[in-house]
Amino acid sequence: MRHFEETLYDAVCQQFRIDKLYFENKTDHQHLMIFHNAQLGRVMTLDGVVQTTEADEFVYHEMMTHVPMIAHGNAKRVLIIGGGDGGILREVLRHPVNHATQVEIDSAVIDMAKEHLPNHSAGAYDDERCHIIIDDGMNFVRESTDKFDIVIVDSTDPIGPGEVLFTDDFYGQAKTCLNDGGVIVTQNGVPFFQPDELQTTHRRLGNHFADANFYCAPIPTYYGGFMSFGWATDNSELRRTSVDTIRERFDALNIKCRYYNPPIHSASFALPQYMLDMLDGDT
Ligand code: SAM
Repeated sequence: MRHFEETLYDAVCQQFRIDKLYFENKTDHQHLMIFHNAQLGRVMTLDGVVQTTEADEFVYHEMMTHVPMIAHGNAKRVLIIGGGDGGILREVLRHPVNHATQVEIDSAVIDMAKEHLPNHSAGAYDDERCHIIIDDGMNFVRESTDKFDIVIVDSTDPIGPGEVLFTDDFYGQAKTCLNDGGVIVTQNGVPFFQPDELQTTHRRLGNHFADANFYCAPIPTYYGGFMSFGWATDNSELRRTSVDTIRERFDALNIKCRYYNPPIHSASFALPQYMLDMLDGDT
């Protein structure tokens, strides 16, 4: 029986049994695999790194979408960078937005996810509000004159095509795409194993935004404890939105989530001491 062995870290790795292989090939940009595992359901990997699984994708996609959208309170235009599996787009379109642009570098990820991971996008790509652009997210934010209320950077790790999405230049350009009071959130890895990613992103976002911070959630297949989400906005009040206001806005959406709820929204900004120490540069 063949196993997928993740290559994200040198000294530790996780292994998933491949019970059924749906797709494996080198696209124009990265090595893409989609397979079934008895415990996790369908799994997508890129360049040897787990991207998403049917079993735990709800934690990541709900927290990456509903925290900024509900904190903002009136987001009508959303920009998604990356997110080829369609999970973020699915969650964004559960809100009364007018428009969602998704900029994904690798069309094969969208095509193969639609075919072999259909529950992630769950028809979101057919929604008339969404506009898909196949391009490097860096090019888009540098050249676009469009403005958005929320930018969600659902990228791979800072290796290969994803690396540019963690640069100071990208954050600065992404800010030019934000309306006043807008929020950018980013996939920012697992600080327990990737402490420098937290510190670097904190410094770089801080160069461009009044409030550069993180929130977190535990995603089993991004193992190593909490996963961090970068948070950046010039409206420092947004991160302090009261639980009552969050609940009011969430109830008005009339959506059911499996991880996200108003208390979890608020609590997710309370970081464990080891992350605070990393951000204070103590460790
Ligand atoms: N949830 C996953 C995680 O946390 O690792 C990431 C999901 S999604 C599969 C990551 C997406 O980012 C992929 O579809 C990849 O093709 C896309 N991507 C990587 N670099 C990019 C870039 N420079 N511009 C746009 N999309 C990019």
